[in-house]
Amino acid sequence: MLQEMETAHGHTTHEVFNQVPPLVNYNIFEQDPTLVESVQREGAAWVTDHAAALGRVAGSEEAISWSFDANTVTPVLHTFDRTGQRIDEVTFHPAWHNLMRTSINAGAHALSWREERTGRHVARAAVFYVSSQMEGGHCCPISMTHAVVSVLRGLPHLAATWEPLLTSLVYEPGLRPLQEKQGILCGMGMTEKQGGSDVRTNTTQAVPCSSEGENVYLLTGHKWFCSAPMCDMFLVLAQAPRGLTCFLLPRILPDGTRNRFLIQRLKDKLGNRSNASSEVEFDQTWAVRVGEEGRGVRTIIDMVNFTRLDCVIGSAAGMRQAVVAAVHHAAHRKAFGRLLIEQPLMQNVLADLTIESEAATLLAMRLARAGDRADDDEHEALMRRIGTAVGKYWVAKRGPAHAAEALECLGAMAMLRKASCHAFTGKLHSIRSGRDRATSTVWMSYALCRRNRRRRKRSWLR
Ligand SMILES: Cc1cc2nc3c(=O)[nH]c(=O)nc-3n(C[C@H](O)[C@H](O)[C@H](O)COP(=O)(O)OP(=O)(O)OC[C@H]3O[C@@H](n4cnc5c(N)ncnc54)[C@H](O)[C@@H]3O)c2cc1C
Repeated sequence: MLQEMETAHGHTTHEVFNQVPPLVNYNIFEQDPTLVESVQREGAAWVTDHAAALGRVAGSEEAISWSFDANTVTPVLHTFDRTGQRIDEVTFHPAWHNLMRTSINAGAHALSWREERTGRHVARAAVFYVSSQMEGGHCCPISMTHAVVSVLRGLPHLAATWEPLLTSLVYEPGLRPLQEKQGILCGMGMTEKQGGSDVRTNTTQAVPCSSEGENVYLLTGHKWFCSAPMCDMFLVLAQAPRGLTCFLLPRILPDGTRNRFLIQRLKDKLGNRSNASSEVEFDQTWAVRVGEEGRGVRTIIDMVNFTRLDCVIGSAAGMRQAVVAAVHHAAHRKAFGRLLIEQPLMQNVLADLTIESEAATLLAMRLARAGDRADDDEHEALMRRIGTAVGKYWVAKRGPAHAAEALECLGAMAMLRKASCHAFTGKLHSIRSGRDRATSTVWMSYALCRRNRRRRKRSWLR
């Protein structure tokens, strides 16, 4: 009798049924009609095939396993080598590199700068939206690498050296001299211990080093939150003689030796775990001035603005992922004799989640279009300037609440670490507790607080 009851999985006491199959092998782009239509409406229909190809890879079982591995085996800091020399390097699970390679090959960091066609910011936003659903943490260096080009384009002498490598579709990890690399990454360091929103309180000092050229400075101080420390270069803020100034700080110096970029420790974060975020000290660290002395915020704000747009896109992508997981679960799980998706109250919840997700996607793509047209159209410039700030505030703020509601649709399964990390729906990691979503509300809150307060004073926003 017992033998007769044995199921395929070897249980002798009961049959396993009414469990939800893994959500894998779906096309993140093609199966998202709101995204597909937005891309067409906002002028980037030409990217459809490209985004669909990425969508297929990003939704594959293999890519989903990368995202779990990269969030399970988190980055490790190696301060010294075997012989006691400082190396300040961070190592990652191979899955992290697979994620980075996939997104960079697809141009999630560079499509808008490499393309001449209209709608290129929309096209890049769509690709970034798909990458964000593949895995959120790796999109941090992808976003910063994209954003820095907007600053460098105003400084042709720097752009000539750095832009071709920043916009390359080659992912080449590891610290090596520029001439030995085919592609590089960029991070940013603004936040210090005493202030993240109010960067005017930065205490890091920048002393001109005239023996090395008029734009070269030596920086001494710290950064309290410096994500993706294995980037090849950073834009950082420091106090120069005439005030807060923006600098380009490379990890490898022009002579091929290492710059003094002393990683003190990695943050033990609640979300965004695949991505390393570090505390770093500068001790006579070599840097090149970007823009005028005393105009640091004005200079770096272009980069901040692009990362803010990515907070909207990434949060919208997270909402979409939450909806997909919740609907998938409800479509396969029965309670009280019917599938959850057939239960009227569950339908209400799923409809609310879907409407909010679709609205966030529409807004993200509309803001990206404003980026495409801002140079020639004052209305679009205003839409971009104000809409991005408001959109970042609202969509990022709604992200954790939306994730919590979506998690509830999954019942107890959503609360199990193992269930959310392996083989279950495949995509739950990023709605795990809303913490990944909460990251976007905090990131670069500086820009939201100060700039908009100032604008309100002088404009119709009052
Ligand atoms: C995962 C992660 C990665 C990060 N990576 C980086 C990085 O790579 N580089 C970097 O420079 N920073 C990074 N940050 C830091 C981030 O940008 C700062 O945390 C952020 O700017 C807020 O600064 P703070 O933490 O010092 O908060 P505070 O400035 O102390 O602010 C605390 C709270 O008060 C609010 N607030 C501040 N001023 C006002 C005001 N006038 N009115 C109303 N509310 C206000 C803020 O919005 C915030 O909610 C990262 C943060 C996270 C979470």
